Amino acid sequence: MGIVRLGKLALRWCFECNLPILESVKCGTCNSETKEVRLTPPGDVRPAFDEELRLIRAQIDGQFGSGCGKELIPKDKIVLLNRAPALDKMDEIIIDGRVLGALRYDPGERYKILLRMHAASAIEKNLVKNWVIVDHGAVEPIKKGANALCVGITETYSDITFGDEVVVLDTDKNALAVGKAMKPGKEMIGNKGIGVKTRWYGKEEKSSLSSGQTWEDAISANSWFFEKKVKKAIQFIEKVAERENKEVACSFSGGKDSLATLLLALDAGLTPKVLFVDTGLEFE
Ligand SMILES: [Zn+2]
Repeated sequence: MGIVRLGKLALRWCFECNLPILESVKCGTCNSETKEVRLTPPGDVRPAFDEELRLIRAQIDGQFGSGCGKELIPKDKIVLLNRAPALDKMDEIIIDGRVLGALRYDPGERYKILLRMHAASAIEKNLVKNWVIVDHGAVEPIKKGANALCVGITETYSDITFGDEVVVLDTDKNALAVGKAMKPGKEMIGNKGIGVKTRWYGKEEKSSLSSGQTWEDAISANSWFFEKKVKKAIQFIEKVAERENKEVACSFSGGKDSLATLLLALDAGLTPKVLFVDTGLEFE
């Protein structure tokens, strides 16, 4: 699917406070410089809800072994999700100011976690499932992006099935790459062709940022930005309402965007008619 770009990517991060910062090059709390978080466009980021985090941790545990989910997504960290283009549904998972991986749902299949390298490195010693080990000769090519060929694979988790996300390890269990299994685990050894098609590769530092942040901390570090945006939006609504001088309606789906719009209209002193379109696919 082609890249969809709708406006600038607004997510930045303060690595001192370990907090998400919207647009600003300075953190609203500590005033240190923020860095852009590299996301897949268009960059539609939202906080992860508890239920989503439970699903993600359970999915990581199911794919790589019990405890890996908690290791990668501790309870006291702020986690964001970025909706990315996909056939059905895909969310990039953002923690400690970078993308840890993605949760993808493919029609007719199931949820799958696609890990980035630093996440694979963080659980490399605790991997129970979906790993392969390659010999010394394969290490350097794979680190540079080559696929893991069957000829270099010496050991595998035996229940790997075609299409599974797999971590490629060296003999000391250092993660070299992550990618898609092109054969069942049992058929990789002593065979020809590609065993694992590489998706991400090379060494990336594991995370060691502070924890214990709350959403109150994140709001506080961004409050001046929110206030600026709210003020601008209210002024816009007031101006349009005055210019048009007609009855005001606010379309409302129940999602975050229409809720924010309705609240802004109310803050602008309007009493809009709230319009909800029942698509027939709504909860009662
Ligand atoms: Zn800060």
